[in-house]
Amino acid sequence: MPENCAGNWEAEYMASPSDAIVDCEAVSHWSLADSLLTRHRRFLIMRFCERPPTYDQRRARISLMFPALLGLTATAAAIAAGYQSMAPTGQWFGNTFTGSPLGSKQIALTYDDGPNDPHTLKLLDVLAKHDVRATFFMIGRYVQQRPDIARAVAQAGHVIGNHTHTHPLLIFKSVAETRAELLQCRSALQDAIGQHSNLFRPPFGGRRPATLRIAREIGLQPVMWNVTGYDWNAPPAATIERKVERQMSGGDVILLHDGSHRALGADRAQTVIATENLIRRYKDEGWKFVTVEEMQAVSPTPSLSR
Ligand SMILES: [Zn+2]
Repeated sequence: MPENCAGNWEAEYMASPSDAIVDCEAVSHWSLADSLLTRHRRFLIMRFCERPPTYDQRRARISLMFPALLGLTATAAAIAAGYQSMAPTGQWFGNTFTGSPLGSKQIALTYDDGPNDPHTLKLLDVLAKHDVRATFFMIGRYVQQRPDIARAVAQAGHVIGNHTHTHPLLIFKSVAETRAELLQCRSALQDAIGQHSNLFRPPFGGRRPATLRIAREIGLQPVMWNVTGYDWNAPPAATIERKVERQMSGGDVILLHDGSHRALGADRAQTVIATENLIRRYKDEGWKFVTVEEMQAVSPTPSLSR
């Protein structure tokens, strides 16, 4: 029998139950009601007589548990941070524009990864036909290859933003590399179309706090989205439309693609068809298509109200 349980506990308990309870509490963590102790006396006395851990043992247990708890906390934090670094509407790493307040009747169509031949030009035809202005986030190296398409987009009255020079995942880029990506794209746009918007969209939506800080330092404003057409792999137009329609909540910034970061010449015919159908449908329902700049003019920090 452990030393601190020496003696006949049952006899002690029977002789003086209240003292026994006090003793039991002294050797263990029990601060139980008398009734419980009375009902399960034998069992409890046996349990109480287990040697309580010494101070050193308790410390050793805690020191073993601590790294595990720390590990769990760190894992949870890493998962949450990873999610926030890619989540279109996440705001942990700094404010980004994701749309107007819920319920507004505005829609901003946005197209990434152009300019692209021939689908950017086909898209321009559709947008012109319906008198809709959109926002294009262009890749600098494509702008250098097809400045004529970038100029056609600008001349049609659309807003053009920065989508980096080579479309890297900026989470893994150094401060210097990130800055170079943004400045190179800006200079490609400057050469092709001159003055353009200060809007910037990180490739894949990937960012970390430094990404947004660098963008702001050089005068760029991060723009994300709250609705995506999932058109990367060119699904049928009806699929793109259905996905968009399911996410619409009013005041939406819709992510679509007129190009692909993998190569020039990507087939975006289905996105062009989906665009026309979405414009028809939402115009009929009284929605207004605007550029991101126009949407921001109404609600400059809307991400806080979504
Ligand atoms: Zn992109």
